[in-house]
Amino acid sequence: MSFQLKNDQYREHRGGHSRLLDLHCEQCESRVAIYQKDGPGELKYVYLDRIFFPDNLTRLEDKSLEELSAWDCSDCNSPLGVPFIFKKDSGKYAGEERLAFRLFAHAIVKKPRNISSAP
Ligand SMILES: [Zn+2]
Repeated sequence: MSFQLKNDQYREHRGGHSRLLDLHCEQCESRVAIYQKDGPGELKYVYLDRIFFPDNLTRLEDKSLEELSAWDCSDCNSPLGVPFIFKKDSGKYAGEERLAFRLFAHAIVKKPRNISSAP
């Protein structure tokens, strides 16, 4: 399985530089997601429209905030993040809103991923 990076206005707004990350649970080290990170900076939020894996976390961006539940590790049940609506409140794209998980501190370990490698 390989992944096509998503190329849309959000990617453009963050400078166009994107990479895939494997996100692992800090507690049990199991992989909890494959994620496209756009632009520089720390990983504080996980935008729902950037999750490629697992299947139960993809396409959640079409849901409403009320339909979403907290993100827990499917192996050890550690809390990973909570859903919220990210609102950009300054800069060129102020007003932009996206569904995301706000990550708990020390919940996730990220590792760079080769775009064409098998999951
Ligand atoms: Zn875990």
